[in-house]
Amino acid sequence: MMSSLETYYSEKWNKVIDEIQNSGKIDKVILDSFYRTSSLVSLTDSKAIIVGNSEVSKQIIMKEILMISEFFESIDGNSITCEVLTQAEYKKLNISAPVQQIVSDYTSQNTQNYLLNYNNILSEYRFDNFVVGASNRECHAAALGCAYDPGNIYTPLFIYGNSGLGKTHLLNAIGNFVLTSDPHKKVYYTSGLDFVEKVVNSIQNKSIDQLKKELYDIDVLLMDDIQFLAGKEKSHEIFFSLFNELVNNRKQIVITSDRHPTEIKGLEERLISRFSSGLSVGLDSPEFETAVAILRLKIANQVSEDVIIDDDVISYLASNFSKDVRSLEGCIKRLLFYAIQFSNRDHIDMSLAIETFKGQVETPAEGQEVTANTIKRIVADYYGLTKQQLISKSRTSNIANARQIAMYLCRLIIDLPFVKIGEEFGKRDHSTVMSACRKVEANMKKDTFYRQAVNELEKQIRSK
Ligand code: ADP
Ligand code: MG
Repeated sequence: MMSSLETYYSEKWNKVIDEIQNSGKIDKVILDSFYRTSSLVSLTDSKAIIVGNSEVSKQIIMKEILMISEFFESIDGNSITCEVLTQAEYKKLNISAPVQQIVSDYTSQNTQNYLLNYNNILSEYRFDNFVVGASNRECHAAALGCAYDPGNIYTPLFIYGNSGLGKTHLLNAIGNFVLTSDPHKKVYYTSGLDFVEKVVNSIQNKSIDQLKKELYDIDVLLMDDIQFLAGKEKSHEIFFSLFNELVNNRKQIVITSDRHPTEIKGLEERLISRFSSGLSVGLDSPEFETAVAILRLKIANQVSEDVIIDDDVISYLASNFSKDVRSLEGCIKRLLFYAIQFSNRDHIDMSLAIETFKGQVETPAEGQEVTANTIKRIVADYYGLTKQQLISKSRTSNIANARQIAMYLCRLIIDLPFVKIGEEFGKRDHSTVMSACRKVEANMKKDTFYRQAVNELEKQIRSK
């Protein structure tokens, strides 16, 4: 028995490509660069959908669409029409992941009568195309743990972090991983907004019992952007019982939000305390090395091989657009667009990059100012922590210690008012900040190593 429909598709697609190669009708280099990097995502008796890994691949495959159809036909005996899409177009079609079909085949359920489309996972968000670095290592490891052994390692897993840092990517990666290992599993991806809408609709259609029944049947619940559940009472109630039901049955729950659970206003206390029973991990903005690795991956996926992008351009993008990964993706698109539309160039150098982003990048002024963020970053790096951990509620001693030092340095170096420091560090009260500063001063007096560490940090920050 095949392990999953995805494997089946990939084998089928490889077979078609091999046959084409044997026929000698298309050059091997073309097949390797554009066909083998694309994938077959759906195949019925009459239709095949192929997703190209770039716009260029799509165009190249499209040219031979009739021939490809004939090869499918010669393998399966059915008359097949092929369609080629880019990743983005495929995503827009909102076709559920291929595994959808296999699950319904296995269980012979009539999915049309279902309110939830299980296994609605986006296949392009996987672990193998998620770049891991200091800013997301913890989240990645936790997510992978859940995917590997759903329901048994930590449930719920709560992932928090600003927009564009990879929350949705990780959720879908978990879904894809689980379904690849076991296509019988019922994985369900939803978001706060979508969940509220489902609840409202099923109340109107009097199908709320059916909805609950289907929800309770989920093996892996992936709830994105739960902050949108805030203030929605009925949805809270349903989510709360769903949550308990799944946890009691050792099912996996993964939740994401743009902030730490304790900071989501309008979410019931009892829910927040349930979240704390699992593991909460934060995502940070990618640091330089991770940003470079992400850029390289995205470029390799999107840009044809004859376009050359200089290394200093990549460093330039990584230093200026690494607030979040979405911005990194955006700047590559803009750069390519600019290079092709305006100058028809296939060699992208610094002058072209500067030209493309002029006005968008702040050129660092002489003696650039140190901000609370600089201090957080340097202290976090020094102690091997993330900035998120520094501002989290965690009382773990090494985190709390680093946090106190960072607060103290904000006072010492940039003379930030206590209230402002409190805001910078996870909305803490000014009295907490004052007592942190006093503690650091006291520790510095009595502990030489401690004093050296703080002095070293001060030096690093001042030399920025
Ligand atoms: P969020 O849900 O946190 O707003 P997304 O998961 O939608 O962010 O990520 C935004 C974009 O950045 C997506 O295209 C995603 O694939 C990409 N991305 C985020 N983190 C990474 C990473 N570590 N490696 C590769 N791509 C990433
Ligand atoms: Mg998202």
